Amino acid sequence: MQAKTCVYIGDELASYGFGHEHPFGPDRLGAFWAQACDTGLAGRVTKCIPVSAGRESLERFHTREYVDRVIAQSATGEGYLDCGDTPAFPGVYESACYVVGSVLDAIVRLLADEYLHAFVPIAGLHHARRDSAAGFCVFNDCGIAIETLRAVHGLRRIAYVDIDAHHGDGVFYAFEEDPDLIFADLHEDGQYLYPGTGAVAESGRDGARGTKLNIPMPPGADDAAFFAAWERAEAFIAAHRPEFILFQCGADSIAGDPITHLCYTPAAHRHATVRLCQLAEQCCHGRVLAMGGGGYNRRNLALAWTAVLGALEGNG
Ligand SMILES: [Zn+2]
Repeated sequence: MQAKTCVYIGDELASYGFGHEHPFGPDRLGAFWAQACDTGLAGRVTKCIPVSAGRESLERFHTREYVDRVIAQSATGEGYLDCGDTPAFPGVYESACYVVGSVLDAIVRLLADEYLHAFVPIAGLHHARRDSAAGFCVFNDCGIAIETLRAVHGLRRIAYVDIDAHHGDGVFYAFEEDPDLIFADLHEDGQYLYPGTGAVAESGRDGARGTKLNIPMPPGADDAAFFAAWERAEAFIAAHRPEFILFQCGADSIAGDPITHLCYTPAAHRHATVRLCQLAEQCCHGRVLAMGGGGYNRRNLALAWTAVLGALEGNG
């Protein structure tokens, strides 16, 4: 039977990492894929080879000056690409281009009805700004995906849904005044966690007021708290009837992550994925593109992303 879901796996994607001692290390993709293979799920989905993006795609979201800076620092592998969170490494430009290119390739495949769902595990780099890296994120594949869905594929109203422990500030502020970017983000309260943003009152600016939903969760929030908050997020997204759904399913919201304080289990990730797929059936031909986001406890990310992939394929 034809798989419903494609997943991007390969060394080019895994290479987006900041060294083996770093929370965002190059071993994250392998940790996930080993779990997907162990459960037999890997054999039921289609594995796609990572694809690189050209700089014209990057510049749909990022400034030319910032792209030039990443290229220059990628050659030397020295310094930081922001104020001190996101180090350059040799080849960081090429690795980051594979993250973006894989997401854009997934969009093409979904819009061509080749697959209903896609998952790019090393992606969802939601902190990067138009003119800077931030929080381990070099190029904002989410923002580039939104700009590309519009400029290349002619869609307009896009939902961005984010359950990573951190607020998706790089997406939120880039589209804060955009009434057609429907944004729903459940994250650890910014009073306790980087980047400190995403208050309830941040609901969109000017004509976009009411098109953004931020739900800060208290440290220690569990699955029951997530399920209750999710109902609100789901109703919000459904009311706006998006034409495409982007889902940042960061695994750093699972209990035991070394740098956050939320306490969900992978059941939260499974639930959100199942419900988003159902919602997509009603409003956007079933199309859901999931991006792995954060997650720094390797076992957690393996279990959470496998739950997402299983739910996408309908084995949730
Ligand atoms: Zn995160």
